[in-house]
Amino acid sequence: MNKYQEYLSTRCIECTDAQFSTFEKIYQSTIETNEKFNLTAITEKEAFFDKMIVDSALAIIDLDLTNKKCIDVGTGAGFPGLIISTLCPKSELTLLDSSNKKINYLSDLKDQLGLSYNTVCSRAEDYAKNNREVFDYAFARAVAPLNILLELIVPMLKVGGVFVALKGPASNEELKASVSTMKKLNCHLQNIYVDALLDSKEERSIIYIVKDTNTNPKYPRDYADIKKKAL
Ligand code: SAM
Repeated sequence: MNKYQEYLSTRCIECTDAQFSTFEKIYQSTIETNEKFNLTAITEKEAFFDKMIVDSALAIIDLDLTNKKCIDVGTGAGFPGLIISTLCPKSELTLLDSSNKKINYLSDLKDQLGLSYNTVCSRAEDYAKNNREVFDYAFARAVAPLNILLELIVPMLKVGGVFVALKGPASNEELKASVSTMKKLNCHLQNIYVDALLDSKEERSIIYIVKDTNTNPKYPRDYADIKKKAL
């Protein structure tokens, strides 16, 4: 077992040697594709494993995603989605991003990695209008402030579904700014898990928000309105 597998194991996240070798392939592919178009600023291997892979793996701590409908909103080059798909192959995972080239890249990568996920190229707010109350879990990392993400994501969740927001050290401020948004969207804060990454020791917060009732059909509003004034 290497240090990353050990770190994950102490958090009850099993990562087999085969799954770790998929992570190596994800690293290689991201770096090769980075030469054609920009996927990540983090290219040094140890930093990539720490800040992209281990960071993304923390998304599944304490979750059983077997047969659960999940979505990674604003997946970019596949984070946390590719890592969730590797560690939870029985999840029914959708990777969504508005960038055509990133979604084409992830679609081509699926067979190379032997993973199973759907890809969707759409803006989250457009997708949410036609895919309401569908998902058990939604994930988002480095996409937008929490009060904006909530309006994009909560409509997609089933009642009782959970939004898992991967955030850095400023999570308390984002939560404070989201109190009225959560009220209007009929959802509540369930828990916050705080941890430090293995190598960099950077702090990470995972925020769990549960949807309580069906979302009013007027949400999400158009993105310009969401950005102008969060709920
Ligand atoms: N989640 C990835 C990660 O952690 O590496 C990507 C982060 S990147 C900074 C933000 C991504 O969110 C971009 O790929 C962008 O295209 C996507 N994005 C931003 N707003 C979006 C929206 N409203 N709908 C869909 N994708 C969006």
